[in-house]
Amino acid sequence: MTQSNPPTPPKRLVDRDVHGHTPRGPWAEVAEAQWSDWRWQQRNRLTSLTDFEGLISLTDGERAAFEACSDRFRVAVTPYYATLMSPDDPSCPIRRQALPQPEELEPHPEDRLDPLGEEAYMPVPGLTHRYPDRALLYVTHHCPVYCRHCTRKRKVSDPSSTLAKRQLDTAIGYLRDHPEVRDVLISGGDPLTLSDDRLAAIVAALTEIPHIEVLRLCTRNPVTLPSRLTDDLLDKLAPYQPLLIHTHFNHPAECTPEAARCLRRLADRGFSVANQMVLLRGINDDAERVREVNHWLLRQRCRPYYLFQADLAEGVSHFRTPIETGVEIIRALRGHTSGMAVPHFVVDAPGGGGKIPLVPEYVTGRDDDHLIFENYAGDTYRYPLR
Ligand code: SF4
Repeated sequence: MTQSNPPTPPKRLVDRDVHGHTPRGPWAEVAEAQWSDWRWQQRNRLTSLTDFEGLISLTDGERAAFEACSDRFRVAVTPYYATLMSPDDPSCPIRRQALPQPEELEPHPEDRLDPLGEEAYMPVPGLTHRYPDRALLYVTHHCPVYCRHCTRKRKVSDPSSTLAKRQLDTAIGYLRDHPEVRDVLISGGDPLTLSDDRLAAIVAALTEIPHIEVLRLCTRNPVTLPSRLTDDLLDKLAPYQPLLIHTHFNHPAECTPEAARCLRRLADRGFSVANQMVLLRGINDDAERVREVNHWLLRQRCRPYYLFQADLAEGVSHFRTPIETGVEIIRALRGHTSGMAVPHFVVDAPGGGGKIPLVPEYVTGRDDDHLIFENYAGDTYRYPLR
């Protein structure tokens, strides 16, 4: 009888990112089995001022903003994500993404409740169908952590806006009746707040629609709750390919060993993973931060896909940078690092105009026969027009 050898583990060029654990701070005594159980993390989320008072030194502004904002857009932070917060620095990028800031209360004249016009293109509840061949399905409005820069503040975190089972069936029926739709984004909220079976059932129902070619699952769990990507869940989802994963890392502080292991688990199971970073003032509005995150992502086999200009959502104007900042970040990356580490910088046009890519200007002129342009280093080149 021949004995089969165990499979050889993949050889890695870089292993350093996956070793170790993020220090647990006040949760140091929590048993590993609990800490790495995503349900425990969900149950023990920090949601009140008292929860945070025991963890970090809140400023008066943060305290006031918490009291004024938390009933408009809920506050919830997993213990895991909370361990990434600096206890003493109010400008900490994790604090600013997860805790209400005083500026949230200052409206901007261009703010919109629904900045991308998603409700206007909603043929049935819970489904936006704006582009002919793509549709966006909102399967839940809950998330493990509520990001203060969320575009869908109008309904995310609001339990009353969650889609009922009957409405979800209607939305899936709509997709069945529209053969032009070939690509469906499963979003929310965060779809991974659903149970494994519920999520797998939705994915299975969509997979049965013959004209749907690609599914995309949009989740920030690899950032805020990486333990949610369990082997059980991946076993249930892995048969449904192509099921692409879109995630949302914004800052090097989020690039932990736990997150690296999560992304590698996804890649090892055959999922193609891409990152959609949002450009946020004071958090990642410089090329060095973006480069550091994107190099880390590539090492975990996650493609840096988009860098989004922050939308005109209500209460997020303090996060917005001038558009030129994003263009300059792309200029600082293009040619100076691997092309794969350079995302598309896009503005999602207000009101539903779609994504508009913005690129630095490299063409400096033309003559009768040639286009004249500059390369990344500022050197001039000519290329024949035909
Ligand atoms: S995870 Fe996504 S949907 Fe949820 S609050 Fe953050 S940005 Fe909004």
